[in-house]
Amino acid sequence: MPELPEVEAARRGIAEQLVGRTCISYELYRPRLVVAPPDLTLDAIVDHPLQAVGRWGKYLWLIFPPCALLIHLKLTGQLVGCGTSIPGFAAGHPVPPYNTSLPHKSTALRIDFAPDAHLYLTDVRHFARVQLLPPAELPATLRALRLGPDAASPDFTLEAFHAALARRRGTRLKAALLDQHIVAGLGNIYADESLWVAQLHPERLVMSLTDDERTRLYWAIHEVLKIAVPLGGAKILHGRAVPPVGEFPYVHGRAGQPCVRCGSLIRKRTVAGRGTYFCACCQSASEPALKPSPELPARVAP
Ligand SMILES: [Zn+2]
Repeated sequence: MPELPEVEAARRGIAEQLVGRTCISYELYRPRLVVAPPDLTLDAIVDHPLQAVGRWGKYLWLIFPPCALLIHLKLTGQLVGCGTSIPGFAAGHPVPPYNTSLPHKSTALRIDFAPDAHLYLTDVRHFARVQLLPPAELPATLRALRLGPDAASPDFTLEAFHAALARRRGTRLKAALLDQHIVAGLGNIYADESLWVAQLHPERLVMSLTDDERTRLYWAIHEVLKIAVPLGGAKILHGRAVPPVGEFPYVHGRAGQPCVRCGSLIRKRTVAGRGTYFCACCQSASEPALKPSPELPARVAP
């Protein structure tokens, strides 16, 4: 579930509070979390400073001089920074609650930094993975993932989006936005939000879009991320949006609630294998004409 905004919140917390600090110890509670070559273990990071943190789509990496950690939080991973020497931060899946005493029974890894700062990776479903590799191999490893441009990066241009969609003409829009080879970072929440902002039905085929609609979808992705990234992401718990911040998220987790644009009830349907929320009125499958929305509410309370 953690998507670009949630992983970016973790990256920012780590960048601001942990980069430059030296790792003094660690505890690996769930050994299967780590994937590594035979000659590399987490012992390699002890007594070394965290040099850098980076992100591409939903992938996050930490670089210590002898070892890089490539992290994917998958469905329910959560990263919490705490300790007396940092303000603290939390990002990722909202379960367990961020103020839970750590380690939690689902905590997989703790990394300790001098003088008293800790990074906890907790994952209630146990799908998250941390790949260890020499830092020099990180660029090639990332290239091998064949990710599309990060949705929040300057590389995600309108031209790149049009070109990538042109190679997926028979794909439904929801599946296209979930495809990390087209654009990296969107998942179930922000794909739904982008399609609602663009007023496009999630089951429409890429080939049915006009140039204007493709462009509208591109800018809708930017608009959604512009709201979600500063918030650290939407809060979706047990399939429900809680609590709404302003009106965000607009549709995801809001089945049965009125659309804030037109008042019709938000529907939920399985599209591309994922529970998909949309407004059948302003995201019509058969009438691609844009509906006016002069009463679109303010996005987020300042
Ligand atoms: Zn609507």
